[in-house]
Amino acid sequence: MPKIAQLTAPRKIEIKDREALTPGPQEVVVGVETAGVCGTDLALFSGDYPVPLPLVCGHEFVGTVKSIGEGVDKSWLGRRVTAEINNTCKAYNMSEVCPACELGMPSHCQKRTVTGIINHDGAFAEEVLVAAGTLHEIPENLDPVTAALTEPLAAALQTFEMSPITKGETVVVLGPGRLGILIVFAAALKGCHVIAVSRSEQKRKRALGFGASQACTPEDAEPAIKALTQGLGANVVVDATGNPDGITQALSLVRPRGIISAKTTCGLPAHGLDMTKLVVDEVRIQGSRCGPFTPALKILEKHQDQLKTLITSIRPLAEAQNALESAYSENKVLIKIRGGGVYFRKTNWEVI
Ligand SMILES: [Zn+2]
Ligand SMILES: [Zn+2]
Repeated sequence: MPKIAQLTAPRKIEIKDREALTPGPQEVVVGVETAGVCGTDLALFSGDYPVPLPLVCGHEFVGTVKSIGEGVDKSWLGRRVTAEINNTCKAYNMSEVCPACELGMPSHCQKRTVTGIINHDGAFAEEVLVAAGTLHEIPENLDPVTAALTEPLAAALQTFEMSPITKGETVVVLGPGRLGILIVFAAALKGCHVIAVSRSEQKRKRALGFGASQACTPEDAEPAIKALTQGLGANVVVDATGNPDGITQALSLVRPRGIISAKTTCGLPAHGLDMTKLVVDEVRIQGSRCGPFTPALKILEKHQDQLKTLITSIRPLAEAQNALESAYSENKVLIKIRGGGVYFRKTNWEVI
């Protein structure tokens, strides 16, 4: 029977056997090759983002389609794919769709399940079942391990779908970590002046290598940004700190009528936000979540050698518990489920 790494209680993952999955109409079963660990997985793992347990987490994955249900195009069989995380009316190709899908917002589908997060077992497993409409083929020239970054890169791109930026604008990224570094990269691709803010010297250095034109500590951020913007503040400040207080710092750095782009999904409420300053400065807070896979795959294909360096380790499924524990202090941890065992640490690939 296929193996799964199931979250059975906060901070407890058990490796179990599960009956082989059978796809229903408009569904496919994907044999998972690799799955990435992100901040949302850590919030689920710690219990800060409470969901009914047990649950198989994992929503960033690459694998091969191994079986298809009724109504699914047969040509998907055997193709290497990744998948969007929302299993929506649209992804199920339903003839009657919910009001959100009708309005063209399938990522907010009212009937959706979310792979590895809400009412839907995810990809920390040998196989995962998803709606066929979520699939995207991995381009031939894209390294399949690096392709596990598609979903987080799409989420990074969505930041600027919801908070548009133009060339030459100042964008601050608070917390250039797992997701934040991809946001730095995305803003730099758009020709913005990007300032990365982190306590970690290593993260500041890395941000400069991923397109930030400046990097500073949280203490130095305000004077640095004011100096750059004639005292106004940044056009867009992205909070990717993963910390509920990040938004307060963002408010101190954004210009009047600027945008705070919220990317933190730590599952905890923000206390002490100065709403008066928000109102007086006419600041907009804009959340954003799942993004477009097609441009993410194109960017990955073009910049894979650089983006691959963000992967700090690859661990086997049997070590899922350790993989999640160590993801708190690493950048991108991948769980490798199938294929040759490779273990990536900093710059050297090692065979395990
Ligand atoms: Zn994620
Ligand atoms: Zn819907």
